[in-house]
Amino acid sequence: MLLVMSLLVVVLISGCGSSTSIAADRTDPSLAGEESTTSSSSMTPPTAPSTSSDAVPANESPTAAPTPTIAPHLPRPLSPGLAGKVIVIDAGHNGGNASHLSEINRLVDAGNGVTKACDTTGTGSFDGYPEYAFTLAVAERLAGVLRAAGSQVVMIREDSSGWGPCITERARIGNEAGADLAISIHGDGNDAPGARGFHVLIPAATAQNAVMVPAAQRFGALLRDSFTTTGMPVSNYLGSGGLMLRGDLGGLNLSTVPKVFIECGNMHNAEDLALMRSDGFQQNAADAIATAMGAFFD
Ligand SMILES: [Zn+2]
Repeated sequence: MLLVMSLLVVVLISGCGSSTSIAADRTDPSLAGEESTTSSSSMTPPTAPSTSSDAVPANESPTAAPTPTIAPHLPRPLSPGLAGKVIVIDAGHNGGNASHLSEINRLVDAGNGVTKACDTTGTGSFDGYPEYAFTLAVAERLAGVLRAAGSQVVMIREDSSGWGPCITERARIGNEAGADLAISIHGDGNDAPGARGFHVLIPAATAQNAVMVPAAQRFGALLRDSFTTTGMPVSNYLGSGGLMLRGDLGGLNLSTVPKVFIECGNMHNAEDLALMRSDGFQQNAADAIATAMGAFFD
C-alpha cells in the first residue's frame, strides 16, 4: 500500500505538460503527458528546471489558493452551424493509467517518426486534484453544450475508471467517425515560478495529418480568442500569444480530421488551479470551446 501511495504522489506531482522540476519526467514517459514539452522533438525548448524555493515540496500543500474571480456564466448564442456536426471530445489521460503502467508505457507510433507511450498519467495539483478528473469535467460540460446545439458528440472516454485508450486509438476514433472537429482537453503542470495561463497546441503538418492542418490551425486561433473570455490568462510560459505549434504529438500527427489540444491552465499554479477546480471556470471553458467551434463552422 505504501508503494502504491508513493507512486500516486509521484504521478500527481509530475508534469503532464511541461514540468521540469521532477527528474523522472525526462526518463519515464509514464510520468509526463504526451503533450510534454520535455520531449526531445519538442518545437519549443522546455522551460528551465525550477530550483527556486517557490516550488512546493511534494509533501506539502501549496499556500492557500486565492478565491478566483469568475465572471458569471452568461449563456451565449451558439452558431446554428453546430447542428449535425460530428465532434470528438478527447478528455486527456484516464483514472486507471497510474495502475496500468505496463500497458500505457507500451511504445506506439506517434507519427512523424516518433514513438511515444500509449498513454500517460497526466499531471494534477499538489493537493491531489488529478488532471484526468479536470479534463473529464470540462469534456462532460462541453458535450452537454454541443448536444443542446444539435451536434453529434463522440466521447473518447465517459468516465475515469479505466486506462487509456492509446493515443493511436484516440486519433483513430476521430478519423473513423469522420469528425468535423476534434479537441483534446488537458491541464498543464509546470513548476517554473509564476508560470500560468492557457495555450492551444496546434498541429504542424507532418504526414497523414497534412489534410487537416490548415483547418485545425484556423480553429486553434478561434479557440485562443474565445478562451480569453474564461478568466484564464494567455500562457506566459509556453507558446506565443496562446498558440504553440507542435509536430511531436501523436494525437495531432495521426489525426486526419481537424484537431487541436488545449492546455486549459497550469495546475501547479495556485491561481490557475483555483479557477480550474471551480464549477464556474469549467463551465466557462466548455462554453468558450463550443463558441469557438460554432465560429469555425460559420
Ligand atoms: Zn495532459
